[in-house]
Amino acid sequence: MTVPAISGADTNLEDYDIVRWFEDIADNAAQVQTQILKRIVKLNCNTEYLRNRLGTEVLNIEELEPERIADGDDSALLTQEPITMLSLSSGTTDGRQKYVPFTRFSSQSTLQIFRLAAAYRSRVFPIRAGGRILEFVYSSKQFKTRGGLTAGTATTHYFASEEFKTKQKTTKSFTCSPYEVISAGDYKQSTYCHLLLGLLFADQVEFVTSTFAYSLVQAFTAFEDVWQEICEDIRHGTLSSRITITNMRSSVLDYIAPDPALALEIESKCKELNSSNWHCMIPRLWPNAKYVYSIMTGAMQPYLKKLRHYAGDLALVCADYGSTESWIGVNLGPLDPPERVNFTVVPTFSYFEFIPLSLIVNRGSEYSLANDDYEEGEPLPLSKVKIGEQYEVVLTTFTGLYRYRLGDVVEVAGFYKGAPQLNFICRRKLILTVNIDKNTEKDLQMVVEKGSNLLSQKTKSELVDFTSNADTSKNPGHYVVYWEIKGNVEDEVLNECCREMDLAFVDHGYVVSRKTNSIGPLELKIVETGTFRKILEYYIGNGAAMSQFKTPRCTSNQVLLRILGDRTIKQFRSTAYR
Ligand code: AMP
Repeated sequence: MTVPAISGADTNLEDYDIVRWFEDIADNAAQVQTQILKRIVKLNCNTEYLRNRLGTEVLNIEELEPERIADGDDSALLTQEPITMLSLSSGTTDGRQKYVPFTRFSSQSTLQIFRLAAAYRSRVFPIRAGGRILEFVYSSKQFKTRGGLTAGTATTHYFASEEFKTKQKTTKSFTCSPYEVISAGDYKQSTYCHLLLGLLFADQVEFVTSTFAYSLVQAFTAFEDVWQEICEDIRHGTLSSRITITNMRSSVLDYIAPDPALALEIESKCKELNSSNWHCMIPRLWPNAKYVYSIMTGAMQPYLKKLRHYAGDLALVCADYGSTESWIGVNLGPLDPPERVNFTVVPTFSYFEFIPLSLIVNRGSEYSLANDDYEEGEPLPLSKVKIGEQYEVVLTTFTGLYRYRLGDVVEVAGFYKGAPQLNFICRRKLILTVNIDKNTEKDLQMVVEKGSNLLSQKTKSELVDFTSNADTSKNPGHYVVYWEIKGNVEDEVLNECCREMDLAFVDHGYVVSRKTNSIGPLELKIVETGTFRKILEYYIGNGAAMSQFKTPRCTSNQVLLRILGDRTIKQFRSTAYR
């Protein structure tokens, strides 16, 4: 079979065509993968990397030497075609950014997966042609590396690409905000304008979206503070003085004319919403929106509760699974709730391999001193994975990454024709470890969920965000969990939450160490309101993009620890294991 070529940039693409294309390649996933691998190797067989090391072992990014490219080495190192753009992958949990190549293929595949997912969504949620999307998207600044290459986040490159412009022109619905708002480079000002324009076009908004759910929660939380100002702007046809970026100001002002009736209508809805803690804000303000669409899985799960609060009964549809390195899987089941969603591998995006992972220990029996709790098997091609098993994803891409470990753990939930369907489990990297204890981001997430459930059972307060640190500055080391909460909580309840979390770590290494006091009692530190906003600003100041931001769930970064330390207002020590 020859892989049916369908370019994401093909402007005349109908939903029907793209679905048929996908069904075809899913049917023949294994053969398609063989062809994709051949194509990648043929394209790049004369590169330094492939000449030296083809097929040897799986790699981490450092071994592919992207820094040499960033420094201006334009020899055929990873790809035959010179690489002119680099993306900054967000380095999910530790916030360490790394360079990966970005090419035309990257933005074409982005447009392609957007179209594919949209085609499946529109079967369940048909949307009106000519409608608008309230899209909380942000690009950060592109900059030049030492060697003169253009660098930035993958979303930034995409928003600046021809493919994004094509999408704006040719898809059934388009973003409320003009490019000047997306690209302004100041997320607070952009958020204000996204909200303002979203309200001006409220009746036309078909769905509400962002790349990661975090940006949606940020935007609607910001709205709770700025709604009066936005109403004033709509009433008088003005734009708040907080918008200082000239070309964003003028492009937004082009859309605004005084509309006292609309202002009054929004104001009265907001007053009502304000008195019910903004419950159902989205359907009240955007009455024709059919759903909310964003990545809500993995590191975004902690924001689901707040998102559901804003969305009420509106469907939450999970966006696809991808990374700066490559797109991976598409959500074919828009009705699946975030807790059950899976992503069907798109076999044309990259050559995918899967490293079988099996837990070395049953949590609760003995422990190992390995790097983490997994034993690895030999990497398998996509057709050989088994339902119910867990794997680490390995990519060989058109952009010059070879047998590259993505660092994500996935579980195979089933097959769609010949293509595996993946549940995202977690980042593989351990985040909390003092000695023999081993906890991943997901372990911490579950622990914090237990603590925050207790908080919401006993009080009206809510957890806004959290992070952690394994503090080994004193002996014995111990875990510190930082919480920002909204509302006042009595110390007694926080004490209980602290104890609950300490007991909720089920990792055997942790439990044993706590019992023998080789790990000290868990500490819960409450930080003042706005602390996590400061953390976001710190990252944005260092080149991260709002669209791709993920709060680091564990940190040893001294600047972050100082931000957290300076703003700690209360601290509690667990009384468990006494
Ligand atoms: P970035 O480094 O910003 O490109 O982020 C890519 C990472 O985000 C992936 O490797 C995953 O860990 C995570 N991610 C992306 N899409 C999803 C998804 N749909 N569900 C869960 N995690 C995701």
